Amino acid sequence: MVSLFTFVPERINMSQRTTEAVFPPQNPHFVGDGFRVHNFIPSYRHLSMQRMSPFIMLDYGSKFHFPPSDKPRGVGVHPHRGFETVTIAYKGRVAHHDSAGNSGVIGEGDVQWMTAASGVLHKEYHEETFTKTGGDFQMVQLWVNLPAKDKMSKPKYQEITKSSMKVVDLGEGSLEIIAGEYKGEKGPASTFTPVYIYNIRLKKGASAEINLPSDFNTAMLAVEGQFTINNADAVPTDHFALMRNDGETFTVTGVEDALILLLSGQPIHEPIAAHGPFVMNTREEIIEAFTDFEAGKFGHLD
Ligand code: MN
Repeated sequence: MVSLFTFVPERINMSQRTTEAVFPPQNPHFVGDGFRVHNFIPSYRHLSMQRMSPFIMLDYGSKFHFPPSDKPRGVGVHPHRGFETVTIAYKGRVAHHDSAGNSGVIGEGDVQWMTAASGVLHKEYHEETFTKTGGDFQMVQLWVNLPAKDKMSKPKYQEITKSSMKVVDLGEGSLEIIAGEYKGEKGPASTFTPVYIYNIRLKKGASAEINLPSDFNTAMLAVEGQFTINNADAVPTDHFALMRNDGETFTVTGVEDALILLLSGQPIHEPIAAHGPFVMNTREEIIEAFTDFEAGKFGHLD
């Protein structure tokens, strides 16, 4: 007896993007004396620079209380070349100065997007008033790689305040677009390659449907609360979830009130040569970066 029916799976399942792994925060380390961070990219083997491209570094400063101080804590003058540094402040305030003449202070919910490109010197400290009062500090520093053709372009700086971000109402939550777009709304960041960065706020039990190109490398950080992916995979607070590149659509649901940082970007399929603060395509370019830095070509910053 031959059945007349052939079972066809629903298309919604065929296009679903699934979770690859959920990573706990590693033991924290201090960057300078102001940034207590857990590294996710690239120190986990499954979160290498190539696998996560264009996201080549992610340090997460989970919520940490700094007591009042007279002296601002932070990181002194250091160089970067070949990529962008993106700082997202969730708690506390960060001040920034660079050798291209840009400076600024970002507070809760603000983002500082610095394109180091051909090279800058910069320093990052807790802002003066925050230093004096002390308080909870929580932030993300992300490095976004540049394609070879843009690595030696002119440095630039985007201060992206929380109020400038497009917020999409989800009913029992909201989706704030830092970069890229969601359901036709666009975020303020200007990027060199296609990148999506969202803050997704969900009330307990609320869901958001996310639709991204299936080849874009995609991951999420549980900044506040815990959430599930596709109503199945639990992501506890301060954990980092990596998605497979096997579909376009997935859902996130708040197990409690949750804040999720979502990163998704088109991979840059080029060789990566990385050494300390320089990320280029070849070893020769790394040596050139050191030579240029020592020759003072990155400018001057006190
Ligand atoms: Mn830096």
